[in-house]
Amino acid sequence: MAGVWILADNRDRTLELLNVAAGLAEKLDTKVAAFLWNDSQLAEDYIAHGADEVLILPSLEEDQPLEAYIPTIVEEALRQDPDIFLVAATARGKEMAARIAGRLNTGLCSGCTALQFDETGKKLIMERLVFGGAAVQTVTCLTRPQMATIAPRTFAPAVPLGDRTGQVRELAAGLPGLVRIVDRKPKAKQSGDVSDAKVLICVGRGLEKEEDLALVRELANVLGGELACTRPIAEELHWLPEETYIGLSGQKVKPDIYIGVGISGQIQHVTGIRDARLICAINRDENAAIFEVSDYGIVGDLYSVLPELTREFKRALGAGKE
Ligand SMILES: Cc1cc2nc3c(=O)[nH]c(=O)nc-3n(C[C@H](O)[C@H](O)[C@H](O)COP(=O)(O)OP(=O)(O)OC[C@H]3O[C@@H](n4cnc5c(N)ncnc54)[C@H](O)[C@@H]3O)c2cc1C
Repeated sequence: MAGVWILADNRDRTLELLNVAAGLAEKLDTKVAAFLWNDSQLAEDYIAHGADEVLILPSLEEDQPLEAYIPTIVEEALRQDPDIFLVAATARGKEMAARIAGRLNTGLCSGCTALQFDETGKKLIMERLVFGGAAVQTVTCLTRPQMATIAPRTFAPAVPLGDRTGQVRELAAGLPGLVRIVDRKPKAKQSGDVSDAKVLICVGRGLEKEEDLALVRELANVLGGELACTRPIAEELHWLPEETYIGLSGQKVKPDIYIGVGISGQIQHVTGIRDARLICAINRDENAAIFEVSDYGIVGDLYSVLPELTREFKRALGAGKE
């Protein structure tokens, strides 16, 4: 049957993949199939947004991890022989894609930032950043399916295409996997979700102590924004959770406003903020690279600029009196 397949663990990521999958399917004169689990009511929604077929994965037992879907997906792929298989590069998606590719004995291009299609060779041309974001690597896959994981928000979400019909098919459970969940513990939450925030206040190594995060948090509160950071703040200093760091190996974000505080603007960080609508930066070094990508910049010490900025925003937004 062939086709362009997509797998994502929520609706937002699925719509982004549907957008790019529809264009590829048209070029290949084939159909788009989207996997779905948990919420079969989304099937019609996915069809309205461009899926020709929705493949509903069976419910899992409480103690089964998402990876238990892999045998089902692999069996279906062996039967249907898709041309292209795109997976959202979420934490779960990355793990599942690698295992599926391994079992299908095909290549996987991970963390793609752009996709092209070679009409002559009917090949997917996948682009990804390498050497810490300093170069773009172009990859084609010699085996089928051509698999790629796509960073969240790389593509705009598909829009509803009006009255469309499609097939909805429930897949049978595969053999139970060997891995079982023995316990679940909620992760300590120190910060909100940065991935969909409209306003992001992002902090870097210019901050001297963990306690000083309170200064940045206050500005975030006044602007109704979320706190994010650079990689060293999350991975080396552990001041904020790993899912809040922005950049090449962290989250790629598209806020309306990004304010970088004490951030140098290395390419690996800037890669994650390029799609922000407005970039502002505070840095005491007037030559800091962050200013090259900023719409507004304040050259100054964050310890004097931040309180003043917070005070002015409070005044302007009527968020309280000093
Ligand atoms: C393969 C690879 C992947 C990576 N992926 C990522 C990624 O996804 N995200 C990421 O963020 N990084 C990533 N990095 C790390 C990246 O290269 C940088 O090291 C990192 O972004 C620097 O963080 P920073 O700007 O907080 O710190 P620094 O580069 O140390 O910059 C601190 C800045 O604060 C300013 N400053 C200091 N004191 C003050 C003050 N009082 N007031 C105002 N300004 C002040 C300084 O002038 C300086 O510009 C990656 C690196 C590699 C090799």
